Parts: sequence; C-alpha cells; structure tokens
Amino acid sequence: MPEIKIGLEVHVQLNTESKLFCSCSTSQAEPNTNVCDVCLGFPGTKPVLNEKAVELAMKIGYALDCKINKKFLFSRKTYFYPDLAKNFQITQLETPIASNGKLKIGDRIIRIRRIHLEEDPAKIIRENNYVLLDYNRSGIPLAEIVTEPDLRSPREARIFLQKLQQILEFIYVSDFSKEGSMRVDANISITKYKNKYDYKKGWIKEKKEGGRVEIKNISGAKEVEKALNYEILRQKRLEQIKRETRLWNEKTKTTVSAREKEEEEEYGYIFEPDLPFIEISEEILNKIQSNLPELPETKRKRFLKYNISEEIIDTLLTDPELTRYFEYLCETHNEKASAILLAKYLKKTLNYHNLKLKDVKIEVRQLRRILDLMQQYLITEDVAEIILREMVNDYVKGKKIREPEQVLRDLKYEKPLEEEKIRKFVLDVIRENTKAVKDYQSGEKKSLDYLIGQVMKKTGRRVDPKKVKELLKSELD
Ligand SMILES: [Zn+2]
Repeated sequence: MPEIKIGLEVHVQLNTESKLFCSCSTSQAEPNTNVCDVCLGFPGTKPVLNEKAVELAMKIGYALDCKINKKFLFSRKTYFYPDLAKNFQITQLETPIASNGKLKIGDRIIRIRRIHLEEDPAKIIRENNYVLLDYNRSGIPLAEIVTEPDLRSPREARIFLQKLQQILEFIYVSDFSKEGSMRVDANISITKYKNKYDYKKGWIKEKKEGGRVEIKNISGAKEVEKALNYEILRQKRLEQIKRETRLWNEKTKTTVSAREKEEEEEYGYIFEPDLPFIEISEEILNKIQSNLPELPETKRKRFLKYNISEEIIDTLLTDPELTRYFEYLCETHNEKASAILLAKYLKKTLNYHNLKLKDVKIEVRQLRRILDLMQQYLITEDVAEIILREMVNDYVKGKKIREPEQVLRDLKYEKPLEEEKIRKFVLDVIRENTKAVKDYQSGEKKSLDYLIGQVMKKTGRRVDPKKVKELLKSELD
C-alpha cells in the first residue's frame, strides 16, 4: 500500500464590512466599483489595518486551539501578475496571527501549523481570447489556515474541511453562502513500496518517495476530495513523480500542470514598511477568547443529554441559526418536540427552497405557537409541517409571513376529532380486524401500525396518530 500524506492550505474569506487595508466595501457590486487608491496600489498610498479582520483571525486561532501571537508584522510577497496591481501581496511570513493548533476528527488529531492574514488578489475572468479583471476582490481579508501533512486520504481531507467549515460558521467569522468564500490548495505526496529481489538479502521492500504535488485553488470540500482522488490515480501510473504545481479543472475533473513548484524564498519577501510591528493588548485578547461562541462539538455533547437522536442533532448542527432557535424553544417547550420541528420539518422546507433560516424571517414566537397547537393535540406533526411550508412559501413569494392560526384558517383546516369520537373509530377497527388484534396480542408489534393506519383512514386523517396509538394500546394491552 502506498503511504499518502496530504496537507491543506485553506483560504477563508473573513466576514468584515470593509477590506483588509482600506475602507472599501466588501459587498457585492458592479465590477471595479469597490476600489480606491490603496487597493489599486497607487504610488504613495499607505495601508491601514482593519482591526475587525485581526479579531476574526484570532477567533479562528482560539477555536482551533492555537497559540496566539499578540505581536506580529506583515510582509510583502513580491510577484508580477495582473491580479495584483501593486506587484506584491501583503501577507504574513515570520509571524502568523496564530500557530500550533489542532482539530480533532473522530479519534485523529490533525495539527494546524499556522493561521495568517493576507489580502485577496483581484478576480481574473478568462474569456476566449482576452482576460477581465475585477478589483473588487483585491484587498478582501483572508485567513489562511495551514495544516501539517497529517491527512491520510482524500476522504479524510473532505471530512476535515467540512468540520472546519462548521466551526467557522459557528464562531461567525465567515459567510459560506458567498461565492469563493473557501478556496483550498492541497498538497499531496505519495510514498510507494515495491518488492525487489536482492540476491544477497532475498526479497526486500524498496521505498520510493514521490515529489510533493500542490493542487491550487480548489473550491469546497467535495471538490478537494475529487481532485485528490484524481491525483492519486494519476501518480500511481507514473514511475517518477516530480515536484510541481497543478490546477484542478472542475469541468473535466482532471488536474493539469501549471508550473514547477517554486520555493517560498523565491518570492522575495520583505517586511511591509508601512505596517510596523502590531501588538494586541492582553485585555483585548482575553475579551476575544471569552466571547468565543460555544463550539459545535461542545453543543453536540450538551444536546445529547436531551434524549434526541444523533441524526436530529447533526441536522441542527448544520446551521448555527437552527441551534440558536432550538435553545430559545427549549426555554418554553419540550426539547425533543422542538428539535424535531426544526431539524425535520423546518429544515426540510428550507432545503427545498435552498434557503437558510437566517434568510427567512420566521419568529421564535411563531414556532412556539405551532408547538402549543401540537401539544394541545389540535394539530398533528403532518399539519405542523404544512403550516411551516406555507409560512416559508409566504417568504419566497415576497409576502408577509402569516401567523400559524391564519394559515390554518386559510387552509379551511378542520379541527381534529375529539377523543370520544376517535375512541368510537378505534373500537370499530378492533371489531373489524380480529386477526390483526390477535397477532398484536400474541406479540407481533407490527400489527399495531396496521391498526393505527386503519383508524387514520376511517377518520379522514383528522387525528394525531400518537393519540390513536395511545387509545389502541389502552384497549388492547
Ligand atoms: Zn480600497
């Protein structure tokens, strides 16, 4: 078996209002309108560091168990390319914001080598025989998170990135709904072992180390897995693997050679003279650390105590807003019912429209009302789902979101049957299905579901199946 070592450099766009070294906006706009003398690199202009970006990068450092450098400086990485109007990029070489961290995936620990701040270059749009440049991107703050080569398979790289993204979402440092908010360079080296016959020693294993290949600029965790899988197949066929940089093509699902890999020294780094040593006070550091939101893994452990299935908890943990709503609902309602309403029904409806909870202005108060109606047996889970679907639909159509009761009135919803009426149907069904009743009483649990189904049918589904189950059991057990 070949030995695979994978390391990742993850570029994450930080969620700031303005760029890293100027006051230009980071929001979406017509190409080349969010620009100024600084981010276009006019002579004589000086960068001013965005404190918010430093704070967000430090939050990542704390979330990944890093050592935080409270004193750091910036460097100029010199290269000539049209996406870089200054001919250099301001980044950090010697003193990253944070270093020596870790992220656990399952029982494996992936070491984080460093986290540093840098500015994004402009966006290059390649057309058939010309190139367009959008300098709106130039100067957008990025945190680069670099791992040690601790990952052992493309699958593991994907799981690592998904976990990392989840953490970054929960500490509110990046908005992953924005295009290009996570871009990854993945490096991979493969050591092969070959059986070789030596006439003195007999069969021996010969070790053959391949050169480190870097695949640049892959967007998202799934693409990283695909690119690495392709790269392993490609390298397996080669006798000699040379050190180089390759590009991943999402359309053809292949990597192509870009250049022989250059060493970091070749970039001719110099200190950035316009940004001298920056020192963050102990007080600010403590504030950042103590205000760090609860991490998803800690939340998960806490939610498990509520007797909710892991699947439901994992769904809640796909979105920090869902967990926030969940905690609010738990203040007044049963944890399990709240979790199911959010993770099963609301999330399903949101997914259908490709929406996030934060986009849709459904209020906690309205969800509480739906839970009330369920608790009083006035609606079933099915009806709760229909109400949520209608409310999300209101949002999609640009209308004011209706109250749950209004939705019920508009649907001409008839109240479920009263208990005494349901009991009549239950007794009917028991009388008409003697075989199923006998089966159930002799230990065949499945027959109960059949009986519940029969009652539901008879009542035109205007009852809560839980209630039916309860009544049937009280008659038969
Ligand atoms: Zn600017």
